[in-house]
Amino acid sequence: MSDNGEGPDDGEDMRNAAERQAEADREATAALILRLRSQGIRNTRLLSAIERVPRRLFLSAAMQRHSGEDTALPIECGQTISQPSLVVRMTDALDIGPAHKVLEVGTGSGFQAAILGLMAGEVHSIERYRTLVDLARERLASLRITSVRVHHGDGLEGLSEHAPYDRIIVTAAGPEIPKVLLDQLAEGGKLIMPRGPKGSVQELVLVEKQGGRVSEKVLAEVRFVPLVEGTASRL
Ligand code: SAH
Repeated sequence: MSDNGEGPDDGEDMRNAAERQAEADREATAALILRLRSQGIRNTRLLSAIERVPRRLFLSAAMQRHSGEDTALPIECGQTISQPSLVVRMTDALDIGPAHKVLEVGTGSGFQAAILGLMAGEVHSIERYRTLVDLARERLASLRITSVRVHHGDGLEGLSEHAPYDRIIVTAAGPEIPKVLLDQLAEGGKLIMPRGPKGSVQELVLVEKQGGRVSEKVLAEVRFVPLVEGTASRL
């Protein structure tokens, strides 16, 4: 026994708590994967990416105990991390290949970016809050995901320096699909975005560009935080 107030039992308790957390994470991920399989998701690269990215890491300490829930959760700057099954659904619909260059508008926590980073060759993700940019960079670095670059900027302007993109994912809702993003989409490319009014139900739209024309399909009804013009002046 040591007498400095930090007996061996404290270390033991911390290890046990960490092990219990890791175990709970594994169980939640296994349950999610079972559910996704039963919903017809067969994309093994996507399912293994989900297995490799602990959602807990993308949440603040206060929210971590909810990480296994298949719901959107609050993150820093008043934003949200998407529902895991919706992250999977959107990523699946994009049919991402290992050589694709992907643009994400709305980095948020960085969770969706991490999944994209494990599936695509090159990912650029834009976020309007500096705080979220810094946190996402740290989290991606701790997972050693080097294929993702997080940019601080206004995603409504796209990111022309790396265009065109094979795939574009917008994880915040707007009244229409920004033309600049359609212009930065490669021929044969796909874009997914929630379209609709702020604070109400939006439609998740999948757009394909073929022969210079775009066609669209509505996949589901969803609820996302709004796209906001410009970068945030504070935070
Ligand atoms: N993909 C995220 C979900 C983020 S929520 C995740 O996995 O956690 C949507 C994010 O879009 C918010 O962080 C919000 O700040 C950001 N956003 C809204 N409008 C934006 C804009 N014009 N440019 C860049 N980011 C924007």
